[in-house]
Amino acid sequence: MRTLITGGTLLTPHTALPNHTLVIEEGRIAALGAGRLAPGAGDRVIEADGRWVVPGFIDVHVHGAVGYDTMDATPAALQQMARFFARHGVTSYLPTTMTAARTDIQAAVQTVASCPQPEDGAQHLGVHLEGPYLNLDYRGAQHPDHFRSPAPDEYLAWLETGVIRLITLAPELEGAAELVASGRARGVEFAIGHSGASYEQVIEAANWGVRQATHTFNGMLGLHHRTPGTLGGVLTDDRIYCQVIADGVHVHPAMVRLVVRAKGTGRTILITDAMRATGLQDGTYDLGGQEVTVRDGVARIASGSLAGSTLTLDVALRNVMRYTGLALGEALPMVTATPAEALGLAGRKGVLAAGADADVVLLDADLKVVMTLVAGRVVYTA
Ligand SMILES: [Zn+2]
Repeated sequence: MRTLITGGTLLTPHTALPNHTLVIEEGRIAALGAGRLAPGAGDRVIEADGRWVVPGFIDVHVHGAVGYDTMDATPAALQQMARFFARHGVTSYLPTTMTAARTDIQAAVQTVASCPQPEDGAQHLGVHLEGPYLNLDYRGAQHPDHFRSPAPDEYLAWLETGVIRLITLAPELEGAAELVASGRARGVEFAIGHSGASYEQVIEAANWGVRQATHTFNGMLGLHHRTPGTLGGVLTDDRIYCQVIADGVHVHPAMVRLVVRAKGTGRTILITDAMRATGLQDGTYDLGGQEVTVRDGVARIASGSLAGSTLTLDVALRNVMRYTGLALGEALPMVTATPAEALGLAGRKGVLAAGADADVVLLDADLKVVMTLVAGRVVYTA
């Protein structure tokens, strides 16, 4: 049985194809055809007149939502998060851990490794380890008791699960180079974050194979015209993809514009860094063992540090369009093709192309999500 999505404007995302039909077969995109293809016997037709038909969004940095967190280390947490994310156009994501005790991180990693993909939500593509190998001086809302330098007997056990996809680390720590070498040999990507790395240390880390910056601006040494610092390094080295939280709180809109100008949409990745209060009311919540107060949707620990966000990726996309003046087709790679490429999934995810996974989102004229398909299956309808 095939699924035909007809009558909409496809954004591949790099090309706009008005009045085209997207043909889906066995969980993959089989073809992109001009006009309305006539359905065959048994074909299912989804009418998309007046809709944008775009690749599903990918969130490489997200801790939790709707009361659940990756660190809960339960299948229920992953299932509930997956359903919520799909409502916001996300078809795949990296459940992201916090800086914590070894056994707590191990439990979260094992849960993702053994959890089947949900029937009705976004797929998990492996774990993003945010820490514990971070710089205490740039801790943000990571728990201060658990910062440490990379230790092979600890991280090799995590790497051997095969489910680690991305590790945020501070490259200035002793043992960081060895960790990156061990991870790169297993196809793991690395991001500089919660770091006071000098400009030179950033360039050196990129030479090791580090290819991302975690929540650019937040939790890193800032810019100075004679001392470019971590930020100067990640903004100017073209090998590095910059994650950014475009909620208007973590980074001023003008500074989001600066990232997009410095990196281009091909090296900018919109993330949510969402925590468990996302999708819920203001109140008091836990993040990685610390109490977080959420007021007007802004999450902070007692010290006043921002503690993750309550952002969703569809809102991030609309925000960045407003901040930059980019059109949908221009901004879209930052939530689709660019994160896919940064995870080594170019051509398989984040694009509408023959052979790619049929992860598809329909947006209305206001760019609200009206339907989400994961591997060709409708998992959400507004
Ligand atoms: Zn962080």
